[in-house]
Amino acid sequence: MLATLIHGERDIRVEEVPDPQLSTGGDAIVRVVAACVCGSDLWPYRGVTPTSRPHRIGHEFVGVVEAVGPDVGRIRAGDFVIAPFYDCDMTCANCRNGFSTSCLNGGWWGAKDRLGGFADGAQGERVRVPHADGSLTAVPGGEPDWAMVPHLLTLADVMGTGHHAAVSAGVRAGSTVVVVGDGAVGLCGVLAAARLGAARIVAMSRHSSRQSLAREFGATDIVEERGEEGIARVKELFDGIGPDCVLECVGTAESMDQALRSARPGGQVGFVGVPNGGSELPIREMFDTNVGARGGVAPVRNYIDELLVDVLSGAIEPGRVFDLELPLTQAAEAYAAMDERRAIKVLLRP
Ligand SMILES: [Zn+2]
Repeated sequence: MLATLIHGERDIRVEEVPDPQLSTGGDAIVRVVAACVCGSDLWPYRGVTPTSRPHRIGHEFVGVVEAVGPDVGRIRAGDFVIAPFYDCDMTCANCRNGFSTSCLNGGWWGAKDRLGGFADGAQGERVRVPHADGSLTAVPGGEPDWAMVPHLLTLADVMGTGHHAAVSAGVRAGSTVVVVGDGAVGLCGVLAAARLGAARIVAMSRHSSRQSLAREFGATDIVEERGEEGIARVKELFDGIGPDCVLECVGTAESMDQALRSARPGGQVGFVGVPNGGSELPIREMFDTNVGARGGVAPVRNYIDELLVDVLSGAIEPGRVFDLELPLTQAAEAYAAMDERRAIKVLLRP
């Protein structure tokens, strides 16, 4: 089959690799219907994290189950499934506590699982899925119309991660919210905050196309300024004190600083941007202001059931973050388009 490998900085290739095989009894083989490129895939692409040897890449996919192992009970061949950006059993203590990203038996795509089988990267034609009963969610009604597929694909990562930012920041009905970051996760954070009933949502963005999507997702105001000016502008919008909740969806020291200093005293920051070095919590400042911070790698599998209902009903359309669709064979162009910010998020179709 064909799959995407990263060979080094700005070196993405689609190559012939071995077909996946069932090996552990609880696994499944899924034919990928749609995959995509994540902002976090750009780190190895840009060389920020070095690539020592070529390896498979991609961690977001939806597809059709082709085969299941003998121990799989809930998932069946023919099911149209959503996979989270990791695999998990959904039965261990961490999964049951709502944090399946810390699954005691889980792992990551494009790497060996804990039983020694290989879990393929998502940017390929097929994926072997460990713990199929836990990892996968079957979409009721089987394979949907193509128009629904991008929305379902966001439940693998970006919509669940935006939701985690909102939940971690304590967004509830009537909250005032600021979202730092206008990538796919930040835009999904706007949508998630609106879905949870936020009264006012400020999107911080300088890009007109992202600003309009943010508004369509529920942003009531846009702030283009950053740093001190951005903080001042945000405080001004909320009685001079700042909003209840801030969603940090970037992961740099600057964005975390922006988030912590924008929240009102007693407010809360939900952080989901993968820390890219340099950010440390200013405990003295947090002591003085009672601003809280909570967040981390999003346990999106625990959110899929809840969000899926609203995706299938059409109440939310998170797949609108995809503004470019390419065949899998053009994965290299997909990375380039996202790297150069020509696209918000690129969908790959095997
Ligand atoms: Zn688990």
